[in-house]
Amino acid sequence: MNVGSGSESAPQTDAHLLVPYTSAREHALEACWGQRAQLASCPVGRPLAYGTPETPWFSRCGLNSCLYCLRGKSWHVGDAIRFVQPTALITLTGMSDDHRTNRELVNGLKRSLTRTGLDFGWLWVTEWNPRGTGAHTHAWLRGDIPGPGTLQLHADRAGLGITLIKQVTYDGDFEYICKTAVWNHESLTAYRQLNGTELVHGGPGFWRDPETGEPIDRKTATSRYRAMQKSRQTGRALVVRSNVRAVDVGSEALGARLV
Ligand SMILES: [Zn+2]
Repeated sequence: MNVGSGSESAPQTDAHLLVPYTSAREHALEACWGQRAQLASCPVGRPLAYGTPETPWFSRCGLNSCLYCLRGKSWHVGDAIRFVQPTALITLTGMSDDHRTNRELVNGLKRSLTRTGLDFGWLWVTEWNPRGTGAHTHAWLRGDIPGPGTLQLHADRAGLGITLIKQVTYDGDFEYICKTAVWNHESLTAYRQLNGTELVHGGPGFWRDPETGEPIDRKTATSRYRAMQKSRQTGRALVVRSNVRAVDVGSEALGARLV
């Protein structure tokens, strides 16, 4: 996929990118990975014919290995997730440092939860824990929400560690899932060691139109979200319903409730 390719205004100085950190997350990322990289344009971008000497425009390579282009892509992904309207964020601990192993673990856990009757999709990535203590996975979930007891039970069977699940609002910070990929070159290299060449994983079952349930791809989710925003700006009425239902399967015995 080549989301984020196209053209981008590229100022001649990156002084405007010296934005102070505003969140605890940014300070935590700096503590782990050093300063946020400041990038004005794609390093292999070529000047585009419709730019001018005062306001040059450059092409973008659109590769997942390019930090600048990946930042643009993370906003596309964030808008696509926003369109899908996930209702829970899951954290899985005790992950491996090997992407294939993690894919098997996550897919196995999903199959195991699905066999209980839950109908959901999730979009996930793996990140290093701070201070070299292993890795954990974050997943945005769309559809039925497992109770924490159910989730932990099946994670235990899969050999995973502690799990967390929290419900989220549709206005959530959905770019959160890509935060270490886009911080600086060091964090991107480490992210790719854990996640391979993809930015996010697990699209099937996750990318759905929230109103119709129609399976779509990520690009379509992004473009539908942006069209929706545009129609809001132009004042056209737009109603988005959720077809999500919260279900708790088999966790009563463990005293768990939906969080
Ligand atoms: Zn690039």
